[in-house]
Amino acid sequence: MKRTVIDLQGLQLALRDFTALLGKDRVFTAEEDKDAYSDHFAGANQAAEHRPSAAIAPDTVEEVREIVRIANRHGTPLWPISRGKNFGYGGSAPVLAGSVVLDLSRMKKIEIDERNGTVVVEPGVSFFDLYDFIQAKGLPLILSVPGNSWGSVAGNALDRGVGYTPYGDHASRICGLEVVLPDGDLVRTGMGAIGSGPTWNLYKPGYGPSWDTMFCQSNFGIVTKLGLWLMAEPESVLGLNIDVDKPEDLGWLIDTLAPLRRNGILQQSPSIGNWLRAAATLTTREQWAKPGEKLGSSAIAAIRQKFGIGWWAVALRFYGPLEITEATMRVVERAFEGKPVQKLGRTRWVKGDPPEGSPVTGVPLTYPLANANWFGGRGGHLGFSPVLPVDGDAALKLFKRNYELHDQYGLDYHPSFAIGERSMNNVNQLLFDRDNPAFVANADKLLRQLVKEAAAQGYAEYRAHISYMDLIADTFDFNDHALRRLNQKVKDALDPRGVIAPGKSGIWPANRREHKA
Ligand code: ADP
Repeated sequence: MKRTVIDLQGLQLALRDFTALLGKDRVFTAEEDKDAYSDHFAGANQAAEHRPSAAIAPDTVEEVREIVRIANRHGTPLWPISRGKNFGYGGSAPVLAGSVVLDLSRMKKIEIDERNGTVVVEPGVSFFDLYDFIQAKGLPLILSVPGNSWGSVAGNALDRGVGYTPYGDHASRICGLEVVLPDGDLVRTGMGAIGSGPTWNLYKPGYGPSWDTMFCQSNFGIVTKLGLWLMAEPESVLGLNIDVDKPEDLGWLIDTLAPLRRNGILQQSPSIGNWLRAAATLTTREQWAKPGEKLGSSAIAAIRQKFGIGWWAVALRFYGPLEITEATMRVVERAFEGKPVQKLGRTRWVKGDPPEGSPVTGVPLTYPLANANWFGGRGGHLGFSPVLPVDGDAALKLFKRNYELHDQYGLDYHPSFAIGERSMNNVNQLLFDRDNPAFVANADKLLRQLVKEAAAQGYAEYRAHISYMDLIADTFDFNDHALRRLNQKVKDALDPRGVIAPGKSGIWPANRREHKA
């Protein structure tokens, strides 16, 4: 079979069977439905290349199992999404055009274990849903939320999304999954395999091999329940907001934070962002420059002046009893003594105060999405997110080159550097005007060049947009792509008919592997 061909006759039969199972109200085949499940932030051509043929919305795990059996019977590719808000990486759209989107957003059960600080969520539970649930019950727990809280708690963790509290590495807090396998079998991982008992969501390894991570960024199964650890509400959250004046300050800023993060003084992953972070969410580009005109030093100075910000800014937060957070504050301030900080602000929240209203205290939000409005209503964006060592010189080198490349292709530079314990996620948002085909083409060229040059320096991405999953998988090339061979062997063993998310993370099933697009 040609890689991109969908068996249309099989699809019709599958839709007939899906309708018999779910009723026609939960099978969506109209053109406006296909629009709704397409990538809203990509250029027109890219969106067309990933347009689904339908979407279906089960309510129960038994329906999911039956859907998978139907898909196997007719060779119909399914693209599972939880809520499909993976904006910048494709939203709800599939890699393979013509796939049927399996929309799990109606499955919204929440089971919380208050004492142990764990929750089991179904895929449809959004960050807002879980926040409201915790608030309504008055539980002393806080969430780690990503930049877009419309998204699914489960879907975000499965795609290795990140947040800003000490629990911000969402995938690492997963403990126990329930998964429908590509043949319709149902498995619970870890201690959940006992079938009953209290430890499913408490002990991650289980007995024998551990499988939770196998279902992250993969197409090996459909997750129908996800166990997650939640952070206890701290007694206090103290913090420092630090701004620095010059682009080169990025180097020492990273090197100052690195040891604090590595040795656990800093427990969240602080994200260093540039002046565009504020400008793109709070204003539109035409307020600062004419169309096509570069944002030069005077525009940058005007933006910085309006928002009272540095070239770079970072928010540090310390969580715990006041005795500890106050001591941490002193240690961190000492690390910044003698450094050319432009501005340093202190924040303080103590239990009982109104919430700081920001993701660092686990309050869900959507306003970072406003940056898609940078070019007005038709703003698009793509993510480019290489993983780097936590090293100021390495970051500066990449920053300088990537800034030049953005200039060369006519895009504004919108990077952030999130400092983890041992690595940094350099998340870049490529913002463009979807109405302008030349601009869209330039964003595509820029992204490809960024990936290529990063790979030449030994860096690869932690996450990919659906249009670039193969490109990025290609950069993982040790021993002639041994990792790809391993992924393919697993895929073939679990999913011989290739029905679950063909092409996810560059993993193609055997029947679509022959002719590489
Ligand atoms: P969110 O709404 O949090 O942004 P999505 O539903 O868009 O999350 O999921 C992001 C990606 O993760 C999807 O494109 C899909 O590849 C994968 N994914 C999401 N939910 C599941 C699931 N329940 N089972 C398997 N893979 C999933």
